Amino acid sequence: MVDLKQNVQYVKTVGPSKVSALNTLNVYTLGDLLTYFPREYEDRSKTKNIRDVEEGEEVTIEARVVSEVNINRIRRNMTILKTIVEDDTGRCTITWFNQTYIKQYIKRGETYRFFGKISKESNHFEMRNPVFDEIGNEKNTGKIMPVYPATYNLSQTSIRKAVENALLMVKGKLQESLPEYLLEEYHLEGLEKSLQEIHFPTNLDNRMKARKRLVFEELLVMQMALLELKGKNEKNEGICFDKNVKMSDVINNLPFQLTKAQLKVLEEIDNDMESNKPMNRLLQGDVGSGKTVISIISAYKAVKSGYQSAIMAPTAILATQHFEEFKKILEPYGIRIELLLGATKPKQKKEIIEKLANGEIDILIGTHALLTENVIFQKLGLVVTDEQHRFGVRQRTAIADKGNNPDVLVMTATPIPRTLALILYGDLDISIIDELPPNRKKIETFAVTKRMEDRVNNFIRKNIDEGRQIYVVCPLVEEKEDTEEEKADLKAVKEWTEIYQKEIFPEYRVECVYGKMKTKEKEEIMKQFKEGNIDILISTTVIEVGVNVPNASVMIVENADRFGLAQLHQLRGRVGRGQYQSYCILKYDSHCSQVGKERMKTMQETNDGFVIAEKDLELRGTGEFFGTRQHGLPEFKIANLFIDMPMLKSVQSVALKIEAEDNGLKQEKNKKLRNLIDEKLKQSVSL
Ligand code: ADP
Ligand code: MG
Repeated sequence: MVDLKQNVQYVKTVGPSKVSALNTLNVYTLGDLLTYFPREYEDRSKTKNIRDVEEGEEVTIEARVVSEVNINRIRRNMTILKTIVEDDTGRCTITWFNQTYIKQYIKRGETYRFFGKISKESNHFEMRNPVFDEIGNEKNTGKIMPVYPATYNLSQTSIRKAVENALLMVKGKLQESLPEYLLEEYHLEGLEKSLQEIHFPTNLDNRMKARKRLVFEELLVMQMALLELKGKNEKNEGICFDKNVKMSDVINNLPFQLTKAQLKVLEEIDNDMESNKPMNRLLQGDVGSGKTVISIISAYKAVKSGYQSAIMAPTAILATQHFEEFKKILEPYGIRIELLLGATKPKQKKEIIEKLANGEIDILIGTHALLTENVIFQKLGLVVTDEQHRFGVRQRTAIADKGNNPDVLVMTATPIPRTLALILYGDLDISIIDELPPNRKKIETFAVTKRMEDRVNNFIRKNIDEGRQIYVVCPLVEEKEDTEEEKADLKAVKEWTEIYQKEIFPEYRVECVYGKMKTKEKEEIMKQFKEGNIDILISTTVIEVGVNVPNASVMIVENADRFGLAQLHQLRGRVGRGQYQSYCILKYDSHCSQVGKERMKTMQETNDGFVIAEKDLELRGTGEFFGTRQHGLPEFKIANLFIDMPMLKSVQSVALKIEAEDNGLKQEKNKKLRNLIDEKLKQSVSL
């Protein structure tokens, strides 16, 4: 048996410089190379008559050279090799740029196969820079060729060569990774054949079979690993919160009535909290659906049961806002709440940390600052992470580790399609708020180009004169608390503010917020905006998540085509939070990409976060939310969550069936599966 873990340097043709180039592609071992899958394929297998070729197509022709090969030096650095070829049906010009060496391989009167892209020049077809073969000695044509994703310093040819040699190394010696009975039951191709066919397909049908098998394995292992994590968690002994502490005590005193969906979610949480298994729940709800109040009521239950709560939010603005809302609702019950940010003054920080350890604080709200080592709770019972898509799994678990199996609630407005969420967050239970509070008006969305600028500005004036407030978001700044921010981005915000204040709206009060601004200043600006003293707030995407100012009714997004769909939806969610009709105006560049235009269209057509998520998946394959780094979700080498949705569903039931039959995979027949999953779990822990 061959060792897939051996260094990729042992593959023929892979010398030291290729090793380092491969390493940058995350290819370190023989196994990595074999699973460095092609992005697409060039079908060089079918030969066409010249009469039948079409402009723009990539095609193989078999034709005789009927002219001498001419070399023209057209510029100092540019030579053109030109010849004419013909078959029984027509003629075609062949040209090569800057490849004079080819002249020696092409002989007048001989027949070759050429593969390349056809263009039409005035009245004849031309093929530029084709690859070619002598008849009877086909190396470059006549087959389906893989095209690899990123190649860094490597040419496609050298990656192909390396993969080809890697396949030779394992030929006949590769151990099947899946149990035999699964291959049979689900009609799956063997591993060795699949790897061979995925890289160098003999035909497209075989390639599909290979892909099916590889996707099956990848998704199955992910699913089973998640099921296992969930099972482990359920075995842990958690906290039983006090049955005599009634959530309804708070619910009945709220200034509004909770929606049915909110009540249902609270009931699910209440059950989890009272049970002795640690809660591990994902709360999904579209922007503005009222998730904060859910966390407030849950924290009440924890505190009145004698435990502390931690609430973690991704930005200082959001943490501060939560702090105020929590105080408003919970202070009347004698609950002690504090705020801890990266920017909190050392003296105050020290005091908070001391009180927390002594149990003199009931609820601590904050940013990543909560994760700091010296932040120690006396008796942490409930952990809430808001806008969890901004945190990695590790951060989520790091905060939970500050308690002894505390209950965990993660909240997100990230609209992940339900089916997908159930599967991808297999280790979490899911609650969904699928209803907005009553009397919300639909936000009107318009995508506009530069030509509409004056009309947009007049529209802003009209809204301000009616007493409303405006957000303007300019692109490209990610707030990362405590990290260096790009100076250029900062400049962009300041410039936008200047333009809005001086050139367009001198009569109104315009201010800006951005990530790197001092927390005190930021708080002050947000306070002023909340109190209605600022008419137009220019900002970076720091206001993307969670910010709640019901009087703001217009969201302007500059360069909207540069944002992802999910982010646009989040931004739009900043308005339409009160009783006023609200608007979202997306300014985009009429020359933007096709995908950019699609996004504008989607935003205008729907307000439904789940529809948008589906569209996002479709436009980006995996969708921006599924990037591993942000989520700690599994990274897929071959599966594509959009294309492979049906497969994902069937694999999920396979996983459940296997687990039901052989919990823990102890049976001999599942030994291989056990290995794959252990490997996977090891990887995700070492991330
Ligand atoms: P999100 O789910 O986006 O975090 P928030 O929790 O910020 O939404 O809630 C948005 C706004 O709706 C807040 O002003 C909140 O007080 C209000 N709200 C929440 N639930 C209700 C409800 N049932 N009825 C009326 N307003 C509500
Ligand atoms: Mg929120």
